[in-house]
Amino acid sequence: MSATILIVEDEADLATLLRYNLEAKGFKALVANDGDEAIAIIAEVKPDLILLDWMLPVVSGIELCRRWRKNQETANIPIIMLTAKGEEGDKVRGLATGADDYMVKPFSTLELMARIEAILRRSSPELLSQNLTAGNIELDKKNFRVLREGKEIHLGPIEYRLLEYLMTSIGRVYSREQLLNNVWGSDVYVDDRTVDVHIARLRKSLTKNKQQDPIRTVRGAGYAFDEKF
Ligand code: CA
Repeated sequence: MSATILIVEDEADLATLLRYNLEAKGFKALVANDGDEAIAIIAEVKPDLILLDWMLPVVSGIELCRRWRKNQETANIPIIMLTAKGEEGDKVRGLATGADDYMVKPFSTLELMARIEAILRRSSPELLSQNLTAGNIELDKKNFRVLREGKEIHLGPIEYRLLEYLMTSIGRVYSREQLLNNVWGSDVYVDDRTVDVHIARLRKSLTKNKQQDPIRTVRGAGYAFDEKF
């Protein structure tokens, strides 16, 4: 399950850009061009976060924010205000109305995405712990389970973390040192051979029914989780 984000923005180009970026991140994005549309959408679907433009026709973003904060149904939905106004006084007014954060146009979409994730991590942590999937292998981060072709594969804690780490960047080659630092932690003393031992165990578990080996050894470099297997 991924988070649903409502974009309330009357500039069509910006709304499209935001929707594109949110969808690329795996979010579900809804767009309202004005306050009435936003109110109609919220009556049907409760979003997990609202991106709210300050300057909107008819009802302003500030007024919408105020109304949503007063309504029990919407009082806890995080709101990020988007505005061209940069004055300090307006920022304070936006936050005082109950917005959780504030971005001044033109802003970097990368920074906005980072702020959205930071807010959602606090407000709805369950939404960000998605499953990782590659081919017929599925890693359920919430329950620490690994499935291949729908059948559960039992892994030790180190093998689980190794697989999770490799699956977050499919195709990328990691050196033994990078794997040690990220899976074991940089303060733990283990040598490179340990990585080979655990990779071998992970491979054995993943291929116990004679399936294809998804882990590629890159001579002199390290290991990668293959995109094609
Ligand atoms: Ca506007």
